[in-house]
Amino acid sequence: MLVSAKEMLEKAKAGKYAVGQFNINNLEWTKAILLTAQELNSPVILGVSEGAGKYMCGYETVVGMVKGMIKCLNITVPVALHLDHGSYEGAKACINAGFSSVMFDGSHYPIEENIKKTTELVNACNVLGISLEAEVGSIGGEEDGVVGAGECADPNECKMVADLGVTMLAAGIGNIHGKYPANWAGLNFDVLASISEKVGDMPLVLHGGTGIPEDMIKKAISLGVSKINVNTECQLAFAAATRQYVEAGKDLSGKGFDPRKLLAPGFEAIKATVKEKMELFGSVNKA
Ligand SMILES: [Zn+2]
Repeated sequence: MLVSAKEMLEKAKAGKYAVGQFNINNLEWTKAILLTAQELNSPVILGVSEGAGKYMCGYETVVGMVKGMIKCLNITVPVALHLDHGSYEGAKACINAGFSSVMFDGSHYPIEENIKKTTELVNACNVLGISLEAEVGSIGGEEDGVVGAGECADPNECKMVADLGVTMLAAGIGNIHGKYPANWAGLNFDVLASISEKVGDMPLVLHGGTGIPEDMIKKAISLGVSKINVNTECQLAFAAATRQYVEAGKDLSGKGFDPRKLLAPGFEAIKATVKEKMELFGSVNKA
C-alpha cells in the first residue's frame, strides 16, 4: 500500500533523521529501491520526475508498477510515491493517477503566484490525504527544464508558504542538482537555521543530495532537514557497473546478453547506493 509522506517525515523530523527520496526510471530502479528499503526496515519515498513519468509511459503505468511490486515483493515498510518538481498540471495529473505524494515546484513563479497555486493544491491534497511538497527559492542545476541558479531561499517567504498547510518544504540553501562543481561554496547553514526557526516543525527537504559531503548532510539533518533527494548518484552507480560488465566482455560470453544478466550489476549497484544513503541519513530500522 502506498502512504502519504506526512507521517514518516514528521517522525523523521522529531527523531532527527532523514528519509531518502530515490528517483525511479524503470523496473530495475524501482525493484532495487523497494527491496533495499525492506531489507533495512526503512521508510522510503520513490521520486518520479515529469520526464521519467513520460519515459515510463505515464503516471498510471507508474502507479500500477509500484503497487504491483509492493504486493508481489511483500513490501511492508512505508512507501510514498512522489512527483518530483511537478508543474501545476503535472501535480493534478499525479493526484488523479493515484500518487500518494506530490511536489509542486512553483519556485520560478513570483511568490504571489506560487502561493496562489500552492494553496489550490493544498486543498486538493488534503481531501485525499496526499502529502504536498512546495519549493521556495529555486534550486540550482537543471532538472527537466526547471533551471535555477543555486540561490538561497528567503526565510520569510518560506514561512508564508509553510503556513499554507503544505506537508514539507524544499528551500534552496546553496544546493544544486546533478554533480557539484569543484568550486562549489557548500550549503549555507545560516540560511538553513533561520528557515528552520521560522517554519518550526515543518519537515525541510534537501534536493541535490548527490555529492554533498557526509558531514554537511549530518549537519543539515540536525538543523531540520527530514527528506533528502537522491537521483544522480544512482544513475552514476548504474552506469559504472554496466560499463564494467560490458568492458569485461561479459555480454559476449554465454548468455551474458540476456537483459536479466546484463542489467543485474547495475541493479546491485543501485541497491548498494541506496543502502549507503539510508545508513547515512539514519532511516534504517525506522519503518
Ligand atoms: Zn530537486
